[in-house]
Amino acid sequence: MVDSDLKKHGYADGNYWNTCPTCGGTYQGDKRARRCKGCAMSADRIGELEADNADLRKLLSDIDAVTIWEAGGTVPDRSMQDRIDAALEVKGKD
Ligand SMILES: [Zn+2]
Repeated sequence: MVDSDLKKHGYADGNYWNTCPTCGGTYQGDKRARRCKGCAMSADRIGELEADNADLRKLLSDIDAVTIWEAGGTVPDRSMQDRIDAALEVKGKD
């Protein structure tokens, strides 16, 4: 992980002793740091997992829509149809 990612999540190296409001631990870091390095790393990982999760939810939703469509079901709305078309296009490229 690069330092800018840690800064984004509230941690930078430094010589000040602070108490982390997230975990309650004492840590050494920049005067303006908002949390310890461990909590900043966790926050970064949580952000990544949330992004992955959003992608997976979208993919599963698209797969569900394709399954409904292939089974002859009705598609609820136009945006769903667009997503089915996009998902089928992805499938077709395999
Ligand atoms: Zn912490």
